[in-house]
Amino acid sequence: MARSPAAAARLDAVAAAKQLHRDLDLQRRVTEGSGFVDVFEVISELDIPLVFKPLTSALGLCLPAPLRGIMITTKRGLHIQRFTGAHELGHAVLEHRGSVDREMLYRGSLTPTAGRDLQEVAADAFAAEFLLPRWLYRHHIRAQEWTVAGHLRNPDVVYQLSLRMGASYEAVCWGLVGHQILPESEVDELLKVKVAKLKSRLGGEFRPGSSWSDVWRLTAKDNGACLIGNPDDLLRIELEEVAGGGYQWQIDALRQAGYLVLSDESAFSRDPLHYGAPAVRTLIARPPEQGTGEVTLRESQPWAGENPADPTFALALSLQGPESGGLSRANRRRFGM
Ligand SMILES: [Zn+2]
Repeated sequence: MARSPAAAARLDAVAAAKQLHRDLDLQRRVTEGSGFVDVFEVISELDIPLVFKPLTSALGLCLPAPLRGIMITTKRGLHIQRFTGAHELGHAVLEHRGSVDREMLYRGSLTPTAGRDLQEVAADAFAAEFLLPRWLYRHHIRAQEWTVAGHLRNPDVVYQLSLRMGASYEAVCWGLVGHQILPESEVDELLKVKVAKLKSRLGGEFRPGSSWSDVWRLTAKDNGACLIGNPDDLLRIELEEVAGGGYQWQIDALRQAGYLVLSDESAFSRDPLHYGAPAVRTLIARPPEQGTGEVTLRESQPWAGENPADPTFALALSLQGPESGGLSRANRRRFGM
């Protein structure tokens, strides 16, 4: 049976996104680096003009080929801006005739196509593949030692996965189906969950600064991670501590880096309870106001001072929220502005 035009358009778009990953060596760069695809940096690298404006009637637009140029609204959150950027990049790479986009569909190759413009079908499929490729799921699932059967049916886990990929919970859910990691019936269950509920469970009595901000659950497996999000996100850091040996995580480094430590608790694992077992130190902290910077915590014996062999836990923050207007931050970095 011949492929439908929509199916052919999607396959071409997915192939173009994969080709761009290869051309820019993105799999290596992303998995050895920040852990998310920096679409605005890619647009800058391709010398495609990109500007952010307070558009109210569209999320984004792309000029027709052979002109190239992308505009994205400042009126939406970072995850939507990033997906819109990937969609418009799709129009540019696939040399479409130009487009003004009022909505984004996150289902990638699962979006119903009846009555839809084939260029939009293609740009949606491109965006899903470009931002949320199968190798990026695999990277985070391995790094966190999650299993499909044991973890990915849990909405709390999928929420944490979505934060690390710099995408919305919904988009990441659809990617699980698109890459055939989970069947659609199970993802339907995940999609019924209210993300606000997941956030409030994690932060306990503390809430992120606004309803669109997130709560990160970070453990030793996130050592060296780069977090992308909003400056009023809340961080819940859970680290094992060998309290029996007098070792403690020295959290002054957080305060010195501008973090506000809201809560600091220690709990021993009771199951089984034995002497010398590590306790879990749980910190809830607000990141520094500017949302950027690096911090390294050390687990040391307070009386012994710093020892190069002490375990460390490092984080880099890119919690700057949505792009706020004019050039992208990637472009400003590139041009030293
Ligand atoms: Zn479009």
